Amino acid sequence: MAQMQNLELPDGRIFLGGEWREGRGAEITSLYPADRSVNRVLRGASREDVEEAIARAQAAAADPAWRNLRPHERAAYLYRISEGIARNAERIAQVQSRDTGKTLAETRALAASAAGTFRYFAAVLETEEEAMTPARGDYLTFSVHEPIGVVAGITPWNSPIASDAQKLAPALAAGNAVLMKPASWSPLVSLVLAQIVEEAGLPRGLLSVLPGRGDEVGETLVTHPAVGKVSFTGGTATGRALAEKAARKLMPVSLELGGKSATIVFDDADLDLTLAGVLFGIFSSTGQSCIAGSRLLVQRGVYDRFLERLVAATKALRVGHPADPATQVAPMIRDPHRDSVERYVALAREEGGEILAGGRRPEGAAYEAGIYYLPTIIAGLPNSARVCQEEIFGPVVVVQPFEDEAEAVAIANDSEYGLACGIWTRDQGRAWRVGRSVAAGTVWVNTYKQFSISTPFGGVKDSGLGREKGRQGLRAWMQQKSLYLDTSGRPHPWARLSELGA
Ligand code: NDP
Repeated sequence: MAQMQNLELPDGRIFLGGEWREGRGAEITSLYPADRSVNRVLRGASREDVEEAIARAQAAAADPAWRNLRPHERAAYLYRISEGIARNAERIAQVQSRDTGKTLAETRALAASAAGTFRYFAAVLETEEEAMTPARGDYLTFSVHEPIGVVAGITPWNSPIASDAQKLAPALAAGNAVLMKPASWSPLVSLVLAQIVEEAGLPRGLLSVLPGRGDEVGETLVTHPAVGKVSFTGGTATGRALAEKAARKLMPVSLELGGKSATIVFDDADLDLTLAGVLFGIFSSTGQSCIAGSRLLVQRGVYDRFLERLVAATKALRVGHPADPATQVAPMIRDPHRDSVERYVALAREEGGEILAGGRRPEGAAYEAGIYYLPTIIAGLPNSARVCQEEIFGPVVVVQPFEDEAEAVAIANDSEYGLACGIWTRDQGRAWRVGRSVAAGTVWVNTYKQFSISTPFGGVKDSGLGREKGRQGLRAWMQQKSLYLDTSGRPHPWARLSELGA
C-alpha cells in the first residue's frame, strides 16, 4: 500500500493578498477520513482579514502593471502556474487525499486536470478575439471585454483542486484579482495551490486563499461592495441564500449546485458497458459527487436481469483505504456527513424501501478507524419518496423500473434538480430524442461522468445558474464594453456650429 510518508502539509497560515499569516478567525481542523487523525489545525480568516485581502485585491487589480498586460503576457503566468501544478502533482494528490479521503488514483487525476485547466485558459486567453461590429455611421464600432476587478470563488470539499482551478484559472486569465474561499473540511490543497501561484511570480495581492467559516468569510465576500462577482460551487440552499444577497447589490453570480441525476437504462443497452458505467457513475468518489448518477431508471424488460448483476457487482466493490491502489470506494469525508447518509437510508427503510446492497457500515478491523459506508442500492420506492428527490451525496443509488421512453423522460424530469443525465441504449435516435428531452446541463450517452475542460458545464433548475469551462468560461469573468471611434472628422450636424457662430 502506498504510504504517505514525509508529506509536506501547508503550515496552517492563510494566504492574504500575497502574505502568509496566521488567520484571526475561527479554528479549522483538517482530518484524514481514513483514520480521523488530525492533519492540521489552523486559524481561518476573520472578517477583518477578508476586508484587508479585498483592499489589497482592489489595489492589485487596478495596478496598470497587471491591468494593462497584453493577453499573451498574462497567459504566461497561467502557463507557469500549470507547470507548477504539474511539478507538484504528487504532493497535491497526497494532500488532497489526506484532506478528503479520496483515493490517490482519483486525486492524481484531479491534479493533472487542474494543470490542464490553467493551460487551457492560457491558450483561450491568447487566442481569444474581440469583435469589430458592423458600423451604422461614420465611425468604427468595437465590442471588447475587460476584467471585472475583484472577484471571488467559493468551493466545496469534494474535489477542491478541480473546483479551485475551474474558478481561479479563468478569473485570473480575465485579468481580475481573486479571493478564494475553500470549504472548512478541506482547506489544505487550496493553500498548496497558493504556494504554487506565488512561486509562479504572480504579483502580490492578486490572489488570496482564505479558509474560514462560510457565514463569516463567505458572507463577507458576497456582501462586500468591492467584490464584483462570486462563483459558488456547493449545496443548493447555500447557493440560493448567497444569490439573494448578491441580488441586493446587483452582483452577478455563477452557481454550480447539487444534483439528483437520472441514469436511464433501456432494454437494448449493452449491459456490460452499462454495468461498468452505472457503478462508476454512482459509487466512484464514494458517491460524494454533484453529478453522481444517484437515480437509476431501468426499463422493465431488462430490470430483473440488470438488477441482479448490479447487486452482485456492488457487493463485490473494493471498499478500502485511500492509499490502497485496489480501493474503489474510499471513506466518506466526515462523521456528520455519514450520519446524514445513514439517516436517509433509515428513512428509505421506514418508507418501505428495499435495501438490495449495503445499507450499513462495513465490518472488520480495517474499517474501524475510518469513516466508511458500504455502497448501497435501494429499490421499491416511488419517485416522490424523499430519497428519490433529495440529494444524499453518498454511495447510495435508488432504482426504479419504467415501461417506455415517455415514462423514462417523465420520471427523469420529475426532480427539482437538473445537473446531469446518463442514457444507455444502442438506438442513437432514441439517445438523441431522450437527450434533448431531459432537463439537465450535461447528458452522457453510453458513458458517464466524463469531463473535458473545453466543454461547458453547469446545471438547470435547482442545479445552478451559468456555465463554467469552455471558451466562454473566460468571458464569464469579464464585462463587456462597446467603443465607437469617429472616422468622419466632421462636427455633428445637429449642433449647426456655423449658425451658432462658435
Ligand atoms: P455547502 O453549500 O455547505 O458549502 C460550499 C461552500 O460554501 C463552502 O466553502 C462553505 O464554507 C461555503 N459557505 C457556507 N455557508 C456560506 C454562506 N453563508 N455564505 C457563503 N459561503 C458559504 O456545500 P458542501 O461543502 O457541503 O458541498 C456539497 C454540495 O456541493 C453538494 O450539494 C454538491 O452537490 C455540491 N457540488 C456541486 C458541484 C457542481 O459543480 N454542480 C460540484 C461539487 C459539489 P464552509 O465549508 O466553511 O461551511
